Amino acid sequence: MMAVLDRAAWSRAEDASGADLIIINSCGFIESAKQESINAVLAYRKQYPHKKILLAGCLAQRYPKELADSLPEADALFGNTDLAAITKTANTVTGIDQGEFVSGNEETIPLLGERPLLSLPGQAYVKISEGCNNRCAFCAIPGIRGPLHSRPIPSVLDECRRLLDRGIRELCLIGQDLGSYGFDAASDLPELLEALSSLEGHFWVRLLYIHPDNFPRPILEICRRDKRFLPYFDLPFQHGSAKILRAMNRRHDAAAYLSLIAEIRSVLPEAVIRSTFLTGFPGETEEDFRELLDFQARAEMDWVGVFTYSREEDTPAYDMKPRIAKKTAAQRKVLIEELQTAITEKRMDRFVGRTMEVLVEEAVDETIHLGRLYCQAPEVDGSTVIRSDHPLTPGTFIQGRVFARAGFDLELCPS
Ligand code: SF4
Repeated sequence: MMAVLDRAAWSRAEDASGADLIIINSCGFIESAKQESINAVLAYRKQYPHKKILLAGCLAQRYPKELADSLPEADALFGNTDLAAITKTANTVTGIDQGEFVSGNEETIPLLGERPLLSLPGQAYVKISEGCNNRCAFCAIPGIRGPLHSRPIPSVLDECRRLLDRGIRELCLIGQDLGSYGFDAASDLPELLEALSSLEGHFWVRLLYIHPDNFPRPILEICRRDKRFLPYFDLPFQHGSAKILRAMNRRHDAAAYLSLIAEIRSVLPEAVIRSTFLTGFPGETEEDFRELLDFQARAEMDWVGVFTYSREEDTPAYDMKPRIAKKTAAQRKVLIEELQTAITEKRMDRFVGRTMEVLVEEAVDETIHLGRLYCQAPEVDGSTVIRSDHPLTPGTFIQGRVFARAGFDLELCPS
């Protein structure tokens, strides 16, 4: 959206107070995300009663009619199916004609390599596919984002090349499920990685979110061969009980997932594994929950995020019973998080004493900077505190020795 608006005559304001139009990009896949998005609209409306507010993104896409009726604080809604139309909507809602980006005359895809980046220096997300065909029973995303649509390899390659030319050092490949990449075309994730492997220079490629049932084994060999593909895997297992996994419309069980983890670690001993678990799915008994805890203990993954089940309209799980009390789901979440703290700390301890490459991201002051190692994905994992005797440049790699762990974070001094 930002790239398209830039192409017309719109320019970005430093902050909302200087803007003619405030665009709030929303999330709408679970209750807490919907609430957060609506709260953002209400907060901006309160602070800027006379400015135009546009609610964009998944929430607007999912509930256009309901929001038009019940959220007058937003002047207009804009879904996520035709981003090129944002210029037309912006002109209409403000009454300011800044020209239009006409989709059809010019593709939006090339703009991806030029788009303004909202991430910290040195890192960019690259979306390689949109939509999902998996139909996990709890998930509203296929309804919001539609069926899987993989970008052609040359298009992804072109965007990555442009981002690297702009100084990006870490490319985080994202999609609803990277493992499904290419299922709708004549390609697959290993083929995409082989193509990216032909790019010159030193950079990191991080693969985020691979549905464990679709994990493409050949990528392990590619990661082993080309160290620029980080041995970091985000595999949302969701549960450890075979009964619950089946009800979630997942095809495999805990034994298969443990064997996948073992295989990853045997090919890539340095592998870091992240996962998400869902507590309180309909029908989850104490016994099912114990199986999840057992899976967690055996898997010993580096990072685990836990969500409580959110009952979403138009999902297969919506009518499933028995429903689990929110309080029970929340207690189970806390228990997993407590157990995971000890596991994560132990896993992070293995990096202490080692010399590693770190991506410098932010300067706190002249001698303290924040950065990330390969074991730390942006925004979700811990970070690395870099203690140096001179200023460092955000967005660059340096080598350093990890000398301590502080909670989930690591501390490093340049070598
Ligand atoms: S793979 Fe992810 S996006 Fe797709 S249905 Fe399952 S949870 Fe939703």
